[in-house]
Amino acid sequence: MHELSLVQGLLRQLADLAGKHGATSVSRVKVEIGPLSGIVVDSFCFGFEVLAVEDELTQRAILEIVVPPLQYQCCHCGSSCPATTTMPDSCPRCGTTLLVPAGGDGIVLLQVEME
Ligand SMILES: [Zn+2]
Repeated sequence: MHELSLVQGLLRQLADLAGKHGATSVSRVKVEIGPLSGIVVDSFCFGFEVLAVEDELTQRAILEIVVPPLQYQCCHCGSSCPATTTMPDSCPRCGTTLLVPAGGDGIVLLQVEME
């Protein structure tokens, strides 16, 4: 399961941070999961629940996930427009039909609360 290794990466990152700040427990974690990442949010949450309890540091951590909306970016003028249910036919600004999906394809650690 792809999500599980991503959770492991996140937990390692948290352990690093806690080490640097001398924290003993993580109370809240906020991550952004890009709409193009292909990550299944439910699986990620589940993986976090399973793995976080194994470590004293993250045992009581509350996971908060933000998924920003998918956007399309124009290859010609660079303007971006929010995606509706389907990909727009053309750029609203210049009319070019070369649009590429944009909006993030990875996990970003936004906020961590430690004690
Ligand atoms: Zn354009």
